[in-house]
Amino acid sequence: MKCFYCSEEAIVNLRYTNLRLYKKHFIEYFENRGRKTLERYQMLSKNKEILIAVSGGKDSVALLNVMSKLSSDYDIYIHGLTIDLGINSYKSYIRAAIENYRSLGVDYTIIDIKREYGFTIDDAVKVFKKRKPCSTCGIVKRYVINRFAYEQGFDSIATGHTLDDITALMLLHLLRGNLNELKKLVPVLESRERMVSRIKPLIETYENDIKVYVDLKSLIFDNSRCPYYSDESSLFYKKLLDKVENRSPSSKIVFLRSILNKIVPLIQTEEISLKKCKICGMPTTNRYLFFL
Ligand code: SF4
Repeated sequence: MKCFYCSEEAIVNLRYTNLRLYKKHFIEYFENRGRKTLERYQMLSKNKEILIAVSGGKDSVALLNVMSKLSSDYDIYIHGLTIDLGINSYKSYIRAAIENYRSLGVDYTIIDIKREYGFTIDDAVKVFKKRKPCSTCGIVKRYVINRFAYEQGFDSIATGHTLDDITALMLLHLLRGNLNELKKLVPVLESRERMVSRIKPLIETYENDIKVYVDLKSLIFDNSRCPYYSDESSLFYKKLLDKVENRSPSSKIVFLRSILNKIVPLIQTEEISLKKCKICGMPTTNRYLFFL
């Protein structure tokens, strides 16, 4: 199989777009896909300051690399943020994130939640035994990232959610009728009150493409598994959609765009009202941000 753009042998066959590409052209295609997503959903404008949430895994590392590449074209400032969650035996993601920041010359901040907030995820998991650890951890991460972005004056927070992540969540929330959750899966969540805007530049990027990209660029990322990982339901829906995609390439993109263009406008009736946490003043749907 020859590359669509040159006479070299193709190393990937992107069935969803019917393209076979050689290494160099795949990397260009991948980065360009990020650019097109930013433009399609109007995620950026000039001179903005974007905080990139980097967990050190392959998705966020790919996001950081793509955003770093595009930052001069768009005249934007990017800054990385990684959280030291204080999970015993799970630390290697921090080193992976730092190596990427340094090799790209991107400014960054590491927030150690034990030092900053006086507890770790290990502590929180023991206290909130009825909650799934990932749910507790997710609330903490969203709070820490939003608070940092808000206090430092960033315009947006970019996260590494992929097409596979978002379509799996869309299917899950659709089946359960969780319309409020479905509404949050849009490419751009506008800022309001103390909630900083969120963007998902990889929302139209397949995880398989990310694997190829990080591999071809020999990027360092963390492949270790958090001891609390147990996201079984979303994984189930991911696998289900993989089967659909295998049988009918580009189904995930079609599904994503159908939900965004046809369903979300119908349910965007009223915004979920936000209150101020009685302790820290940050936005929350309850009286307190954490689960007191
Ligand atoms: Fe947090 Fe769950 Fe991710 Fe572990 S797997 S870092 S607990 S969200």
